[in-house]
Amino acid sequence: MADILYVVIPCYKEEEVLPETSKRMKAKMNALIADGKISDKSRVMFVNDGSTDRTWEIIQSLHTEDKLFSGVNLSRNRGHQNALLAGLMTAKNYADMVISMDADLQDDINAIDGMVDKYYEGCDVVYGVRSSRATDTFFKKFTAEGFYKLMKLMGADIVFNHADYRLMSKRALEGLAEFGEVNLFLRGIVPEIGYKSGIVEYERAERFAGESKYPLKKMLSFAFDGITSFSIKPIRLIIDLGFLICVLSVVALIWSIAVKFMGGSIAGWSSIMASIWLIGGIQLLSIGVIGEYVGKMYKETKHRPRFIIESVLNDEN
Ligand code: UDP
Ligand code: MG
Repeated sequence: MADILYVVIPCYKEEEVLPETSKRMKAKMNALIADGKISDKSRVMFVNDGSTDRTWEIIQSLHTEDKLFSGVNLSRNRGHQNALLAGLMTAKNYADMVISMDADLQDDINAIDGMVDKYYEGCDVVYGVRSSRATDTFFKKFTAEGFYKLMKLMGADIVFNHADYRLMSKRALEGLAEFGEVNLFLRGIVPEIGYKSGIVEYERAERFAGESKYPLKKMLSFAFDGITSFSIKPIRLIIDLGFLICVLSVVALIWSIAVKFMGGSIAGWSSIMASIWLIGGIQLLSIGVIGEYVGKMYKETKHRPRFIIESVLNDEN
């Protein structure tokens, strides 16, 4: 008997792409079932992340038409990472392996075959990695690749060019469930779970329809969250910076005394002004970074739920 696969797809205002996504997913899943690679109890689970359009109605009607489709309805919009987690935590109760994917068909669904093969070869986590960014605009490519490099530099262990398209086994998901953090950055958490992992390469396409729900502002805050949730390097950098400035100020002191004794000292208004502003700026910046970590701790200590599920549509048999 083949294992049960659940494909979890978070959806936020995706009414334009859902009909096409569900059509293609149905063909893919039925082909995998016919090949005997996955059980006929496998499902495609859409997570409605508090959409204000017809997304949930579409998911409901998909579920009534075909039991292949399941739905999870969140009580409100919680953002991509939380919606994904809600889907993963629901799916792990029914599935042997779960693949997470975006709704907009940017992730090539043909990579699913490779992921499932790797799963049977004994991988508990299979990362979908983009082989190129040919379809991205220069700006998106530049900012996205810069993001991965910055993350690495800042000490977070993430897989290069891997977004949230991945397969996880039941036990890997049980591992994920142990991570109770509120500041969710799944890409950083999954490698920490461990177990044997593999990679499947795919070509990332353009969004099928609708527009990106990740504008630059959200992307930047996601990147900042990723760094500050996974590394304390920024705080170390502040310490280094403080040390450097102390050294520099001693040098400046010696230099100004030397100038005084050589008789060349004039009231140095401009240098004083410049240094006041510089030091003020550095201090504010440093306090800000520390504040970010304090804020994170504040959020974590509250242990607020990361999502609340309003209803689940799922036919287990
Ligand atoms: N998404 C979500 N909640 C949000 C924003 C986005 O569930 O608050 C979903 C969205 O429906 C899509 C996925 O997250 O399935 C990725 O979003 P998008 O394709 O807009 O991001 P991009 O590919 O442009 O980075
Ligand atoms: Mg997208």
